[in-house]
Amino acid sequence: MRLSRYYMPLMRETPAEAQIVSHRLMLRAGLIRQMSAGIYAWLPLGKRVLAKIEQIVREEQNRAGAVEVLMPTIQSADLWRESGRYDAYGAEMLRIKDRHDREMLYGPTNEEMITDIFRSTVKSYRQLPLNLYHIQWKFRDEVRPRFGIMRGREFLMKDAYSFDLSAEDARKSYRKMFIAYLRTFARMGLKSVPMRADTGPIGGDLSHEFIILAETGESQVFCHRDLIEMPVPGEDFDFDGDTESVVNQRTSLYAATEEMHNAEAFAALPDDKQVSARGIEVGHIFYFGTKYSKAMGAKVAGPDGTDVTVEMGSYGVGVSRLMGAIIEANHDENGIIWPDSVAPFDVGLIDLKPGDPVTGELCARIYRDLTQAKLDVLYDDTEERTGAKFASMDLIGVPWQIIVGPKGATKGVVEIKNRRTGERAEMTPEAAIARFAAKDM
Ligand code: ATP
Ligand code: MG
Repeated sequence: MRLSRYYMPLMRETPAEAQIVSHRLMLRAGLIRQMSAGIYAWLPLGKRVLAKIEQIVREEQNRAGAVEVLMPTIQSADLWRESGRYDAYGAEMLRIKDRHDREMLYGPTNEEMITDIFRSTVKSYRQLPLNLYHIQWKFRDEVRPRFGIMRGREFLMKDAYSFDLSAEDARKSYRKMFIAYLRTFARMGLKSVPMRADTGPIGGDLSHEFIILAETGESQVFCHRDLIEMPVPGEDFDFDGDTESVVNQRTSLYAATEEMHNAEAFAALPDDKQVSARGIEVGHIFYFGTKYSKAMGAKVAGPDGTDVTVEMGSYGVGVSRLMGAIIEANHDENGIIWPDSVAPFDVGLIDLKPGDPVTGELCARIYRDLTQAKLDVLYDDTEERTGAKFASMDLIGVPWQIIVGPKGATKGVVEIKNRRTGERAEMTPEAAIARFAAKDM
């Protein structure tokens, strides 16, 4: 992408309305723009990162055996009357009437809708276990939308729903999602800690929140220090094999959100293992048994022919919130530092003397070769001052920069810079191209 033809509205000043660093940087780097309280437009850079996050979530759901669908944002109130949640949900639900005066709503979550789909299409235990998910916008009329997209009113969520014949099978489905979540967040460079959580209005008896420790987190959390650095199962993990030992290794150590905190049990940990910190909730999983399937008549014929009400769980990831969490964990005084896996571009290519045929020709060649090697390159070919170019590239946080100046170009060298470490190295353009094309960074 040539910057001269791109749309990347940066802000030089620090926006006064933003209280936390991720919100400030998202506005300054031109990732989002507020349209109403808690409602944001996603600008090109933000849209790119959102797509990367979404794709990692999708790949890990698929790997764990979940199947993707897409349900609508607008739902009928009647479905929610069946579960009893139409009245219970309260003011957070955005209620709408269509032209025929029918009551509709903008979905805050999809337990009812997926249960309706399930009951009308799945009839036999042979079709189980089944886990269906989608990645869709939600609306919750939060009392206090704040911190930008961290607590928005409209936000992107991945929500999965599992259906099983028995409580034991349902716990297995729960463990698969538990492990999928560990992998998902780790691939984004985040250390997540699963913590025992309150089930709240969704109901049920087993629930974990996945928490990223960060000073600006909204909730107070408590955990055993060993949970923070515990290694995460690799790509070859067998989701149909032993999931229990991975989950138990974690759940046997103390970790709880404030609502579930047991001060006595926490105080019993060795002093150097007690972590009391702020946390950002990026995922929340629930096993709630037959709460919805019973109310809505979701049954299958069991092996002996008699009807069995299915056991369910639901599993949410805050896809848009994750962008804020990633920035909270990856920035410095100059701006964002994206982990490679979610960066909007792989490489920023800076022409320090646009209009000069030597630097121009060299940049064009590097740009062409890297693009051919399937790298996403942001090519700053604008007339901006050198200082402003460096500041912009640092602010938007592209992991690698290739800097092409007139002196070097004449000598036949370019400079590469690692955004995270600040390390710089001079090399021939061929060496730089080979290094990035081999993804050997
Ligand atoms: P919270 O306790 O933060 O209000 P919740 O328990 O209501 O969240 P869930 O219903 O479990 O949230 O939603 C699944 C995930 O969606 C959460 O873990 C969170 O990452 C994300 N999420 C929830 N509400 C919002 C919001 N208002 N803005 C952005 N993301 C959200
Ligand atoms: Mg929650």
